[in-house]
Amino acid sequence: MQRVLVVDVGGTKLATGVVDHAGQLISEHRTPTPPDGDAEAVWSALVGGIERALDGAGRPAVEAIGVGCGGPMQWPEGRVTPLTMTGFRDFPLRDRLQERYGAEVRLHNDAICVAIAEHWQGAGQEHANMLGMVVSTGVGGGLILGGALHDGATGNGGHIGHVVVEPDGPQCRCGGRGCLEAVARGPAVAAWAVEHGWNDGEPTAAAVTASARTGNKIAVAALTRAGRAVGLALASTVALLDLELVCIGGGLAQAGELLFGPLAEAYAEHAGVHYARAPRAIPAALGQQAGLIGAAALVLRGDRYWHA
Ligand SMILES: [Zn+2]
Repeated sequence: MQRVLVVDVGGTKLATGVVDHAGQLISEHRTPTPPDGDAEAVWSALVGGIERALDGAGRPAVEAIGVGCGGPMQWPEGRVTPLTMTGFRDFPLRDRLQERYGAEVRLHNDAICVAIAEHWQGAGQEHANMLGMVVSTGVGGGLILGGALHDGATGNGGHIGHVVVEPDGPQCRCGGRGCLEAVARGPAVAAWAVEHGWNDGEPTAAAVTASARTGNKIAVAALTRAGRAVGLALASTVALLDLELVCIGGGLAQAGELLFGPLAEAYAEHAGVHYARAPRAIPAALGQQAGLIGAAALVLRGDRYWHA
């Protein structure tokens, strides 16, 4: 039987899987991304992961390939330069996969894959106008408008990480200043905590979150700052686009109320127009599998999610 191969390329892990036509994962494999690897080292690790996923599914024929990858990228050509990976620079990921596996490849931003997964099978089902976002090593997102993915002019629509939340805020990796990503991405949260005297563990967002759960005041303040920044960005975004729902996934969303509480507070302070008051920001439902399920949606629900 023919199956869809799915791939999620990130800075910390390479996830691969095989899905059936209903979008159910029938095998899944995860392997760490080679650190600072050259492109061929990352490619080899990726192919290794794909082979394991194919083995797990009984070596089906591959009819198509869906891929999520960190941005930025040339889209839809699928030449990728993820900010979180030094190995891939203008790497022709789509063409390499197509050559090796002889099947059509549809590749999109990994945060867009998470957003469409939540719309298709997760917390955003039944909602025609929503933002799916990821707060993790970076901050990204994807927009569903009128029931379909909104790509934008270059495939980067919905990239909420570069909405400005602090005009005089920190420099962002994108070249701008005061972007949401520069304030709320995991490493920025950890760095802010350390700068303010926090020393309750490794300088990571996960350790800051654990510390905040025990009541550490600096850790709580670091997550409060990030949550408020997300709430501010969402107040503007919902006012602009008249959305019904925002789903938030990614590592930092695991902080739960420590992030979502200040987020809702800042949102309520700034979302004034009547239609922007009702929408809620809720945790994403699909967890780690969202990236792979969204990659599958590019292929299996191309009517809604693939307009290249
Ligand atoms: Zn930026």
